[in-house]
Amino acid sequence: MQAWQQSMRQAMVDPAELAERFGIDSAPLREVARRYPMRISPYYLNLIEEPGDPLWRQCVPDVRELSDPTPSPDPLDEARLSPTPAVVHRYPDRVLLLAGGDCATYCRFCTRKRKLGCSSMTVSETDLAAGIDYIASRSEVRDVLLSGGDPLLLEDDELEAILQRLVAIPHVEMVRIGSGLPVTLPERITDNLCKLLRRFSPLYLNTHFNHPRELTPQAAAACARLADAGIVLGNQTVLLRGVNDSADTLATLWRGLLQLRVRPYYLHHMDLVRGTGHFRTRIEAGLEILQTLRGSLSGMALPHYVIDAPGGRGKIPLLPEYLLELGDKARLRTADGEIIQFPNYEI
Ligand SMILES: *Cc1c(COP(=O)(O)O)cnc(C)c1O
Ligand code: SF4
Repeated sequence: MQAWQQSMRQAMVDPAELAERFGIDSAPLREVARRYPMRISPYYLNLIEEPGDPLWRQCVPDVRELSDPTPSPDPLDEARLSPTPAVVHRYPDRVLLLAGGDCATYCRFCTRKRKLGCSSMTVSETDLAAGIDYIASRSEVRDVLLSGGDPLLLEDDELEAILQRLVAIPHVEMVRIGSGLPVTLPERITDNLCKLLRRFSPLYLNTHFNHPRELTPQAAAACARLADAGIVLGNQTVLLRGVNDSADTLATLWRGLLQLRVRPYYLHHMDLVRGTGHFRTRIEAGLEILQTLRGSLSGMALPHYVIDAPGGRGKIPLLPEYLLELGDKARLRTADGEIIQFPNYEI
């Protein structure tokens, strides 16, 4: 067994053990974790300095998860956009292939919170094969995003087999991997993995740093190994109330990422996922942060601020031509020109 697999076995999944380690009451944690499971990798757990700090908030259950009035467990309507269980096909030329069934650390703000840690998150061999067949049958698909769960939790040979089948499809021009492991399990980014990945160029990897305290020497070394293997690195940050919703924090994060050869790609406004409402800011908060940073930060460090429109309508850039009205019910224009309302208040 490899070191990273050992780490996965030692992940913190028991709220009582966590509560004891930090000297807090375990009852509320246990109640929340019964509904939405907890998992924290040993490495990420060690980054937490005290209860309530920005890293704690991202991975430790919070009682507010149970009282969130957000109506939908699946606001992006991924179920409707799935022609076959392992595929989400929203845009003509690019698809998500759900290749990984699990994550090293469960983000409390996860878009797939409804499935996280449940058996419905696992992807069977049959589903995966059907997903790849679907991609092969759709000649308009140029760009395949491996997502999940975390595709880098697959074993090297499983990942290699998937990549081989994808690059053998003539119309697939590139593959992107979405993985949080440089942030939560950097020991997974082994030399062997990088040697394998470098054979599938052009290969893009988007990771998920949300706070400057995640930019540790171990994370930096993981990113360096990937970049040295010719993988183009990007980052998707989620704007999280109480974690990173300040211009200073995000400026430090994004500047630090450029130093690791990771280009900030998206700043995501929180999705309307049940159980995550306490993380949602107003849209104005994100707009103000970017306005403050424009000019003082290089354009290289500034991601696109986007909102995923409910009902599977796709990402909307938060720019004046799409933002018709703010206020408690924001009015937005989708990429297809449809006008939608988006709840824009803190709870
Ligand atoms: C975000 C997303 C993509 C990729 O979109 P890009 O803007 O090209 O990064 C593809 N499919 C789905 C369903 C998505 O949500
Ligand atoms: S890494 Fe992504 S899929 Fe996994 S728990 Fe976090 S947000 Fe969810």
